Amino acid sequence: MSLTENTAAIAELDIEDLVKNQRAYFKSNATMPVAFRLEQLKKLKDLLIRHQDEMYEAIFKDFGKSKYECQLTEFFPLVDEINISVKNLRKWVKYRSVKTNLLNFPAKSYLVPEPLGVTLVIGAWNFPYNLSLTPLVGSMAAGNTTILKPSELPAETSKIMAKIINENFDPNYLRVVEGGIPETTALLKQRYDKIFFTGSPMVGKIVNKAAAEHLTNVTLELGGKNPVIFHKDAAMKTGVKRMIWSKFVNAGQLCITPDYALVHKDVKDEFLSLAVKEIKKANFSVENHNFTQIINERNFDRLLGLIDPEKVHYGGTHDRDDRRISPTILTNVSLDDAIMQEEIFGPILPVLEYETIDDAFEIIKDIEKPLAAYLFSDSNSLKERFLKEIPFGSGAINDCVMQITNPAIPFGGVGNSGIGRYHGEYSFECFSHFKGVLDKPTAIETNLKYYGYSEKQLYIIKKLS
Ligand code: NAD
Repeated sequence: MSLTENTAAIAELDIEDLVKNQRAYFKSNATMPVAFRLEQLKKLKDLLIRHQDEMYEAIFKDFGKSKYECQLTEFFPLVDEINISVKNLRKWVKYRSVKTNLLNFPAKSYLVPEPLGVTLVIGAWNFPYNLSLTPLVGSMAAGNTTILKPSELPAETSKIMAKIINENFDPNYLRVVEGGIPETTALLKQRYDKIFFTGSPMVGKIVNKAAAEHLTNVTLELGGKNPVIFHKDAAMKTGVKRMIWSKFVNAGQLCITPDYALVHKDVKDEFLSLAVKEIKKANFSVENHNFTQIINERNFDRLLGLIDPEKVHYGGTHDRDDRRISPTILTNVSLDDAIMQEEIFGPILPVLEYETIDDAFEIIKDIEKPLAAYLFSDSNSLKERFLKEIPFGSGAINDCVMQITNPAIPFGGVGNSGIGRYHGEYSFECFSHFKGVLDKPTAIETNLKYYGYSEKQLYIIKKLS
């Protein structure tokens, strides 16, 4: 046995024990009381606030994400998620009353939320805090125990999350397990009551297969090619400004960023000149050290490979030592180009021109169902068609990305872009099972279903059902 095999085998044993211990802890009912859940959520919030400067430093070291962007897109939404859970948990855990049909009269019917048990949360790297800890908050609010595996690519953020959680929480309740593919593979061999995964559709399939072994409930938060349409009647100035920020924040490494733009031929020139103006105004550039770096060399090379130099309208420059690629706009893009064959996940925007809205819709429908879709238009009938005809996880009209900031809107994909949804109350639901219960008094008894089995009885039952 080689050293790595040996280490993996030891890790597997540790993981088996960890899951066993968490299951025993869950079975002890320790996580059931709402007071316990609230206390743990508040403790997590205090710890995050206390360690926030270290968290900003870690993410800057990992991929040059500025403190401002980290606060805006990770820290504040995460603290908000905890606040929402703390504020509403007593309401969420209540039984949810539903109607009782006549056949069962007199009775009450309701749904009882119960935690699922031992959960595994696997995070992605692009918003390492948000995408690891936001699902964790849902799992804690719902009363589960959790093993969290952050992405290994931003090593410093993974380390700080492990430090905050492993030094302050009972491992039988919460535990961060760091590592890459071998550790995740070992984790996936165990039986959980829920696996929550954020990442690529390719790895999502691996996770789903492992979960199927134990019939484990999964939520898969995946990705895809998100379209943004600019129709000829769009408010171009505001629209392009909103879209450019959404495309280049985090250097385009955002799962709901507009992946490619479909622009009506009458407004294409205006679109391009406004886009360049907005990129310059926002100072998104290789020279700006607040412009996020590409996560690693592998992605850096992959992204450069997607830029066809002959199609560069703006940008196209890069700094290899600094892992930064300038915001790049490609024009005259065809559907056969490499850039249209995969999710870009970087600061490159291909622009495709369309003549009729049917042409634009056809392009979108020929690609896997996206995680997000966006339309810029003033036409109510077009908005209606877009909403009815285009499948997507979540989206916006006359804006991009901002739907994620509204906790009342569930976040999740459809088809190839994911299974399930979360955020706010949806997170609580995502990590709960709702037991359906019919609760009957014994004082009154109807004899309809018993004895006789007559036609008349059947007739009445049918009427009452
Ligand atoms: P990824 O799928 O490569 O990695 C995600 C996680 O899976 C990591 O923790 C990683 O360690 C683990 N992993 C990687 N390969 C594995 C393997 N072979 N077996 C087991 N585990 C493995 O994704 P990524 O590069 O971290 O993120 C980019 C992708 O995630 C994009 O497709 C993006 O759209 C998607 N994403 C989705 C959301 C969302 O909320 N829907 C958010 C962010 C990113």
